[in-house]
Amino acid sequence: MGSLVISIDGPAASGKDTVGKLLSVHLGYTFIDTGVMYRAITWLALEEGIDPSDSETIVRLALESEIKISSTLNATSENAVIVNGVDSSHLLHGPEVDSKVSLISQIKGVRDALLPQQRALARGGRVVMTGRDIGTKVFPDAAIKIYLEASVNERARRRFAQQNKRGQILPLPQVLGMIEERDRLDAQRSESPLRPADDAVIIDTDNMDPTAVVDAILERIRVRCQSAINPS
Ligand code: C5P
Repeated sequence: MGSLVISIDGPAASGKDTVGKLLSVHLGYTFIDTGVMYRAITWLALEEGIDPSDSETIVRLALESEIKISSTLNATSENAVIVNGVDSSHLLHGPEVDSKVSLISQIKGVRDALLPQQRALARGGRVVMTGRDIGTKVFPDAAIKIYLEASVNERARRRFAQQNKRGQILPLPQVLGMIEERDRLDAQRSESPLRPADDAVIIDTDNMDPTAVVDAILERIRVRCQSAINPS
């Protein structure tokens, strides 16, 4: 299990980050949420008044900006994101960024700029990394690939509860609509679309709490280790 990377992909609010953090604590691994990198570029673009359809300017912004993601979780249990020297972690989860991030993340040049950083973050191994394309593109050789699913209603309910905690008060139907739109864009884009890797373990989390999902993943890891020790 030395240089292991565990990838957890799935649609918006499928529980990747909650489960990924619990799993990383259990295993003593580093947790990296790649979504914050796309969110950071989106936030910067919005700050600078750049239209999300202006790919050329956005790619330049992505290449020229310094986005550092800390592998140590901050007080709100997130990877701190330092954008051009400023901790911007608390600015990345508002409705504006939510509604634009999938337009920015479909730009090839943006993904090309972030890919080497994502790989570098896991260079030392012992990492749980969450996103949309970790098992398919960032680490196609990841030893354990997980893909979390849940119905859109359940995911909207989870995101609504999470946003309430952050003090945001969008009505539930609007939260649901934004999730559906983000899923649509993420799954239909040509660059690294959201989909399970062929060798991913797909877990439907609708009726599972996060601890049960972590237990299912740990069981999978045990089976994988056993078969590596005793190949049939
Ligand atoms: O995971 P989170 O919902 O914070 O991700 C925000 C957005 O970033 C996703 O909807 C997707 O458009 C983009 N993303 C991506 N590839 C990743 C992680 C996130 O395209 N590996």
